Amino acid sequence: KPRVRFAPSPTGPLHIGGVRTALYNYLFARKMGGQMLLRIEDTDQNRFVPGAEQYIIEALAWVGIQIDEGQTANGPVGPDAPYRQSERQAIYQREAQRLVDEGKAYYAFDTAEELDAMRARLEAANAPAAQYNAITRMQMKNSLTLPAADVKARIDAGDPYVIRLKTPRKEEVRLNDLVRGWVNVHSSAIDDKVLLKSDGLPTYHLANVVDDHLMQITHVIRGEEWLPSAPLHVLLYRYLGWEDTMPQFAHLPLLLKPEGNGKLSKRDADLGGFPVFPLQWQDPFSGTLARGFREDGYLPEALVNFLAMLGWNPGTEQELFTMDELIEAFDIERIQKGGARFDIEKAKWFNQQYLRQRPNADLAPTVQRQAQEAGFDCSPEKAEQLVALLKERVTFATDIFPEARTIFFAPTEYDETVRAAKWNDDARRAVTAFRDALLTYDGPFEADAIKHLLSDTLTAAGIKQGKVMQAMRLALTGLGAGPDLMLTMQIIGKAEVISRLEAALS
Ligand code: GLU
Repeated sequence: KPRVRFAPSPTGPLHIGGVRTALYNYLFARKMGGQMLLRIEDTDQNRFVPGAEQYIIEALAWVGIQIDEGQTANGPVGPDAPYRQSERQAIYQREAQRLVDEGKAYYAFDTAEELDAMRARLEAANAPAAQYNAITRMQMKNSLTLPAADVKARIDAGDPYVIRLKTPRKEEVRLNDLVRGWVNVHSSAIDDKVLLKSDGLPTYHLANVVDDHLMQITHVIRGEEWLPSAPLHVLLYRYLGWEDTMPQFAHLPLLLKPEGNGKLSKRDADLGGFPVFPLQWQDPFSGTLARGFREDGYLPEALVNFLAMLGWNPGTEQELFTMDELIEAFDIERIQKGGARFDIEKAKWFNQQYLRQRPNADLAPTVQRQAQEAGFDCSPEKAEQLVALLKERVTFATDIFPEARTIFFAPTEYDETVRAAKWNDDARRAVTAFRDALLTYDGPFEADAIKHLLSDTLTAAGIKQGKVMQAMRLALTGLGAGPDLMLTMQIIGKAEVISRLEAALS
């Protein structure tokens, strides 16, 4: 049974790309009857942001991704705890030390100045990308170049050091990515990466590989930005003696800007006028608020459906999927290689579809709150009626109240074009007759009954209903088009309907 993990670094709010990564992990785990872990990769002290872990946990819960094991709102859950890397230091130190003892890693004592000087030298010589490698390491201060007694003396004296991987000089590193296919890299292109930093904390690479092994992860599903690190990770599995149980890799395609011109980044929050975070985020340092999909009125099921299609497709025409349907349909083989364009219009379309499926009572409180904030009395029943009347016409629940302005306000002016075309003698006769009928009508004031009353009245007056309906709507709302007119009248109420008809006639 597969075990997958989502392994975010708590360096800020969760980017929407991170939610997609979590979602694909989740869909795969559920589809295969496996497990999904949440591991917090917080070993970079400089980039640690307070509150970010809690944000991640809340955001995942909001979109409906359930964590089986790992860090939760109630702390760590599962046999491999702790799940925060900052609490697993001793494990990484043990493994890094083992690599040193086995000759696969070494202590390096270089100062920042020495490293800068080395880089400057390499740059001047137009050296290829890998910098701290088999050749340069021979010129630097480390346990491979210094006499063993010196190394011991420096460590005993508390000199700062890092542990670096001793990258082999000539080895082919291969991995078969489930999305990208075979990736071959020559070890000469891989740096002697730092595994353990001078503060005793591991780098991402070491901690990630050690934890994926110890937590028995079978599939690493993550963003394409990590593909260049994958060969190094393969090397680490080999050196740590874990190649046999190495997880399979699947690197997800990049998310592209709406126009397709380059990669979507956190800075694009304003670019297309869309937020890139699932929840609202208050920056703990600056106090600034960034809005999220939730605050913009997106329903989680719409966001999930939208994200699922950013890099994957079911191979059929079907577009609407509940989480359960996604799980059923998900297939790692159908993840695309090419980047996926982030089209916010598509997200809105999904929201529209899901808004229509929501029970009216779910959306009514939003309408009621907005109406009350605007100073109107609005009972729960009325709010629900407004939802029924308007939800097919809007994208977000918060659009319903503004859309209902013709219900709350009698028209102060009438659409000129419609008036010129439709406000004729027949229209006036029809409105007059209907007003008169209403004055003596004492049956229930409900859409169906109103419909009958209107049609009986017009038939008796010898007027064709089709010819005057737009004028009737104009008289009631000031507009030539809108939602169901009978239901509109029901919500407006009899007295107000009569008064609006009279105003139109005067
Ligand atoms: N901590 C890494 C991140 O923030 C995890 C990458 C991975 O999944 O290996 O994206």
